[in-house]
Amino acid sequence: LQELIIGVDLGATKILTGIMDIDGNILDQTWIKTGRKLGSQYVLGQLTDGIKKIIKDNCSPDDVILGIVVASPGPLAWPEGIVYDSPNLKWSMVPIKRELETRLKVPFIAVEHDTNIAALGEYYFGYRQQYQDLIYITVSTGIGGGYILNGQVYRGARGGAGELGHMVVKPGGERCGCGRQGCLEAIASGTAISREANLLIQQGKGLGILAFSQGKEPVSAREVAAACLAGDPEARNIIDQAVKHLGLGIANLVNLFNPEIIILGGSVALGLKDYIAEPLENQVKQQVFRMHADSLQISFSSIGQENALLGCLARYLIGPSTFPRVKADHFI
Ligand SMILES: [Zn+2]
Repeated sequence: LQELIIGVDLGATKILTGIMDIDGNILDQTWIKTGRKLGSQYVLGQLTDGIKKIIKDNCSPDDVILGIVVASPGPLAWPEGIVYDSPNLKWSMVPIKRELETRLKVPFIAVEHDTNIAALGEYYFGYRQQYQDLIYITVSTGIGGGYILNGQVYRGARGGAGELGHMVVKPGGERCGCGRQGCLEAIASGTAISREANLLIQQGKGLGILAFSQGKEPVSAREVAAACLAGDPEARNIIDQAVKHLGLGIANLVNLFNPEIIILGGSVALGLKDYIAEPLENQVKQQVFRMHADSLQISFSSIGQENALLGCLARYLIGPSTFPRVKADHFI
């Protein structure tokens, strides 16, 4: 008899579904391609089908599903699990939690903001022995984060805490997806990095960056990062600007929350880790009170790609717990 947890990471272009035991051994994981244009009802159908299929493929009828945890982009109201108006999914007022509970006929599914899930995964499976106050920051297409304060995820009044990508770091700067100008996400995300590179290329510059895309336009943040790591000065300048603003944003957070550790994750931060680690730490430590700086660590994700699924498991293990035990044959 197996006792298993289902974790789901809902993204705008793909859904990751995983099945694991309570020790964090991932038995199986699958990716389903999805899309913003498919609409929320269709995507929720894909999500429930993915859960049923992974249970069917990996369980015998007597096995027990201990819990189902779904990580969703925000803004997500907690605990009711309603996506308000997500620039990422392009959904508005979708009650994910209630929809999934109805479709799967189970009384409780935990739906959490994906950045809180990632922060929980880093905390529980990475840093729990050493640190109780940490901030997780993901830099990929967008920028977001989660706070673990005193060993607990901090969600704010309605679940909206952690939208640190929308901290303004450059007043009057580039327009953000949220409608404001100069948000950290509009200045330092993968989207911003590729935008800056493509602006250069339109001016007839950035040839060193273009070489990394084999001349294909528009260039992606990944290609800018590759050029940066290879020493291209224009790519380095773009990344340096992003790091400068990321450093400012992190310094603001450090002065506000006085965390023991900042953990960076996401494809852009992890891909540029060797290049940005030192300048970013310098930027931050120059701008915060010495007392905050003395005790501050800046580090990178210890669990990398698996933090979404392990974060779902951490959410199950940490609680709050209202999970029923449901036999696998309910889903098969
Ligand atoms: Zn914004």
